[in-house]
Amino acid sequence: MLQVAERHALFIDNDTVEPVSGESLPVVDPSDGRVFAQIARAAAADVDRAVRAARRAYDGAGTEPAAGPWGRADASERGRVLRRWADLIDAHREALAAIESRDTGKPLTQARADAQALARYFEFYGGAADKLHGQTIPYRHGYTVLTLREPHGVTGHIIPWNYPMQIFGRSVGAALAAGNACVVKPAEDACLSLLRVAQLGAEAGLPAGALNVVTGLGGEAGQALAEHRGIDHISFTGSPDTGRRVAQAAAAHHCPVTLELGGKSPQLVFADADIEAALPVLVNAIVQNAGQTCSAGSRVLIEASVYHQVVGMLADRFNSLRAGPAHDDLDLGPLVSRRQQQRVWDFLSEAQAGGLDFAAQGVVVDDAPAEGFYQAPVLLADVPPTHRLAQEEIFGPVLAATRFENEAQAVALANGTPYGLVAGLWTRDGARQLRLARQLRAGQVFVNNYGAGGGVELPFGGIGRSGYGREKGFEALYAFTTLKTVALRHG
Ligand code: NDP
Repeated sequence: MLQVAERHALFIDNDTVEPVSGESLPVVDPSDGRVFAQIARAAAADVDRAVRAARRAYDGAGTEPAAGPWGRADASERGRVLRRWADLIDAHREALAAIESRDTGKPLTQARADAQALARYFEFYGGAADKLHGQTIPYRHGYTVLTLREPHGVTGHIIPWNYPMQIFGRSVGAALAAGNACVVKPAEDACLSLLRVAQLGAEAGLPAGALNVVTGLGGEAGQALAEHRGIDHISFTGSPDTGRRVAQAAAAHHCPVTLELGGKSPQLVFADADIEAALPVLVNAIVQNAGQTCSAGSRVLIEASVYHQVVGMLADRFNSLRAGPAHDDLDLGPLVSRRQQQRVWDFLSEAQAGGLDFAAQGVVVDDAPAEGFYQAPVLLADVPPTHRLAQEEIFGPVLAATRFENEAQAVALANGTPYGLVAGLWTRDGARQLRLARQLRAGQVFVNNYGAGGGVELPFGGIGRSGYGREKGFEALYAFTTLKTVALRHG
């Protein structure tokens, strides 16, 4: 079993720092429910210390703006640091995966993929750092007008527990590449990998203060970060309710926010689809990370003429899925916490009480510790589209199947929730592929494939209850910069 340090301090100014209160929070292993480490519990004073460290890295001590060691670093130098960091993450991939797996309950293979994606984010944004150009704009005679893309300054990053490494990579990678200094608040349930990744950043050459990690409770450290007037931009991933609170706190000091708030993403299967190709993707999109994925394909909408065939084939696969301890590396690990397990149980109790059809259910292996937070994957058939199970994000391994009669109904069902993050479309009809790609209300549409997680290069974000703003790809670099127009009159 992996040995990790007993107690983890905050990471500020490239150093381990104790919180002012001296208090800790327990770290629980979701596979057996036992406490195996402690993290520091930061409060507003610690967040303030981290923000000041970031400000020094960005602005320096004087009055000239952006004159700190990170603020004045050449874009090419920022890129080099990020690429060195990517190499270090690659070199430490196994260790990072082991930490993440124990901390969050992810099977090792999934944790390895997350570490690989993190390295890839830094490679991508390291390569992009010196390719972020402004424009010249044709204006009146005698003028030259140009735009400059400038960093916001100090950015705050509130990271959830489901994909700590990937979400850190996509937001911190882009923010640092664009020249910002960062303060990160990881989720209380998943801090350990990011504390280690931050140390590797210092080894890669990040100057003190360019990246700071404050662990603690959302309502304390997270809220203090969102409210802090020294923060110039906030990137938040998590639930719609907390996202709203963060946006309200940020609005009080006119701070721009990017919100990624999850979804109830549909996959549409038409009768003409390559069903054999679709099946493993449909299953993986809800089983990956035990369904705790913002872009999980948690609804499958199936054309009536193939409905029974597809549900039958899905049921066969669901019945063979196994959940067990993270280190056993099965199809699924445990859910991240007792709280998350209870949330999924509450949804399933409601499904049972409402008489929904439990078409298939995988198993939790016999040797899984009884105190672990396990939930076998469940396939629900004939879920009425207005039912809560078809409308709300469960964030667990529960797939809701619903049938449709025609294309128009398929689109209406797909678009019929308050969310709009990702949609998957399975059909061989080229005209339909293009027509529906336009009609589906989602930030990403996948045709004959589906991309839950991953996709470093692909802009990602939602509509409606799924949030706003885009991360990933080049688009994130625009989000982490502000545009200045310079108009020169020269005659
Ligand atoms: P939250 O939205 O509460 O947590 C997300 C992040 O916000 C965490 O870092 C959390 O810290 C932090 N946070 C919590 N409260 C505040 C606050 N007042 N101000 C600033 N930051 C705060 O999600 P939960 O962990 O409570 O999960 C509940 C549900 O949210 C899940 O079941 C799922 O449906 C959804 N969710 C969606 C995610 C996505 O990827 N879109 C990711 C995670 C959850 P801390 O954890 O320490 O409280």
